[in-house]
Amino acid sequence: MDISALFKITYGLYIVCSKADEQQSGFIGNAVMQISAQPNQIMVASSKNNYTSELIKTSKKLTVSVLSMDAPMELIGRFGYRSGRDTDKFSDCQVFYTDDNQPVVLNHAIAWFSCEVAETRDAGTHYLFACNVIDAVITDRETPPMTYTYFHEVLKGKSPKNAPTYQIKNNINPLPKKEEIMNQDIYVCDVCGYEYDPAQGDPDNGIAPGTPFEALPDDWECPLCGVDKTNFSKV
Ligand code: FE
Repeated sequence: MDISALFKITYGLYIVCSKADEQQSGFIGNAVMQISAQPNQIMVASSKNNYTSELIKTSKKLTVSVLSMDAPMELIGRFGYRSGRDTDKFSDCQVFYTDDNQPVVLNHAIAWFSCEVAETRDAGTHYLFACNVIDAVITDRETPPMTYTYFHEVLKGKSPKNAPTYQIKNNINPLPKKEEIMNQDIYVCDVCGYEYDPAQGDPDNGIAPGTPFEALPDDWECPLCGVDKTNFSKV
């Protein structure tokens, strides 16, 4: 059996949110699909470790924001790699509340659904929530949806240059010589898999292309999941 065949399944990228007892959270999900049209039902898979799973089980409600192709890494990292137990993921986000008080993240969303959980299935590491869609809105008819493949193969943990949040800060370090860049090692984040490539640097966070990993400031954080340099390993 070639397990990598499973990698050929296509997915999108979504922010799934829920609110229960005044607690709210959300996570980045890729496993969202429509399972029937009469009634309109979707299936959402959520890790049992997700705080949002607890909230969904209590509220029996969730919302799904369909992320656009230009969604920046900061947004994906914030909802994808930090826990809602100790982080307010919604700060600085544009959040809409449905009639039944469920949060919907509107940043870089091209559509969203509001759902009631009809059935929950235990799938080992995950819950499968079969949900009735009670509201559905398109917010952007032009931008294509983000795909999981694009996220992994094209973005590689960096903001796309056409993303609204993309900017090169002014206080970047001076460029090293070309031959210095050649011999620098790539480091990978042990938590989220982000690769720090010295040739690319991290311009979003003031790190010029050509900056070796060892020269990153001590307060530099993984731009995807937010852990510090000690959580990186040499590739
Ligand atoms: Fe990381």
